[in-house]
Amino acid sequence: MTTEPKEESKLKRLEPFAEREIMRCMRCGFCRPLCPTWGFSEWDTGSPRGRMMLVRGMLQGDLEPSEYIADRLYLCTTCGYCEWRCPAGTKTVDIIEAARADLADLGLGRKSHHYIEERIREENNPLGEAKEERTSWASKELPQKGDLMYFVGCMASYREQGTAKATLNLIETVNPEGGYSVIGDELCCGSVLLRTGHREVAKALAEKNAELIKKSGAKIITTSCAGCYRTIRKDYELLGIDLNGVEILHFPELLNRWIDEGKLKPKNGEKIVVTYHDPCHLGRHMKVYDEPREVLKKLGVEVREIPLRNRETSACCGAGGGVRAEYKDSALEAATERLKQAEETGAKILVTPCPFCTFNLREAAAKNNIDMKVYDLVELVAKICT
Ligand code: SF4
Ligand code: SF4
Repeated sequence: MTTEPKEESKLKRLEPFAEREIMRCMRCGFCRPLCPTWGFSEWDTGSPRGRMMLVRGMLQGDLEPSEYIADRLYLCTTCGYCEWRCPAGTKTVDIIEAARADLADLGLGRKSHHYIEERIREENNPLGEAKEERTSWASKELPQKGDLMYFVGCMASYREQGTAKATLNLIETVNPEGGYSVIGDELCCGSVLLRTGHREVAKALAEKNAELIKKSGAKIITTSCAGCYRTIRKDYELLGIDLNGVEILHFPELLNRWIDEGKLKPKNGEKIVVTYHDPCHLGRHMKVYDEPREVLKKLGVEVREIPLRNRETSACCGAGGGVRAEYKDSALEAATERLKQAEETGAKILVTPCPFCTFNLREAAAKNNIDMKVYDLVELVAKICT
């Protein structure tokens, strides 16, 4: 008797979730009301619960992977609210990212994400800017070796250069003798590729960045980007990348240390009132809530919390997970909603420790004539201390 060869699964990345993880979802819908993308369609398939049902349908063979399913899954910003809210502990973000990896393999990835992958292969950044221009924001040669490495990230290198300048300014204020590095050959950390299902290229980037980090002699890596921080600190380990035990800190964590050590002080006592936006990849994903707030408070800044939507319940700016690249209007809609929540505090300045959130929120404020200045936290700290 001949046995038919077993057909290879089309859902290789999702299969490991089939047995237990996806079955955890009991369809309660607690995750739905505050999902930042649920309101875009108002169909359940545009909510976390619906996304879990689509994935379960594919795994059980009831649904074929399709353009419709891909569209619903790629609209998720991977903000992590549903995962935090889920009483059953469903790993919604891991499941959505695994589904995207399978969909991309099946040719159902988003066009803009394929362009991003191509641009990264050619220029080491998702924006398509020349790799030779990566440190064009700096007005001088940057040191390539030192105990402290500043990992700039693509957004701060090309789009939010104020963040890069302010970070370097603060590093130099505290380290006037040097001892730090900013690597000109730095590559995209790979975050956008991991979030959108292009994992092999992301792993290759991680390996190259790890070599550069080792070569720099760094004992501490710091970055002012929430996405880079999550990726280097969490995903590189999951990808099996060895960083030789180097300490990885989000820049406000380092600022907090420097303030406690008396290395950074406010220059004057100007009264500044701000509200604070938690980047999803820093807050819910990495549980860094206190340090950025402490930095501001220790420098005499009044921080007004956004009512009901701060820390774990913070709302997403709308840009992450590849959403801004493919669904820009939706990203700006979410950012506008976030700015309206921020307005309730009465503050006229919103700070956030992430250049990508800053970029998206700033554009939404300008587009909708919202009277709210948006700063990267490091820009405000540099203004106060240098
Ligand atoms: S991660 Fe955020 S955007 Fe994605 S389904 Fe969950 S709540 Fe919605
Ligand atoms: S993902 Fe969690 S919160 Fe959402 S419907 Fe399923 S069990 Fe409920």
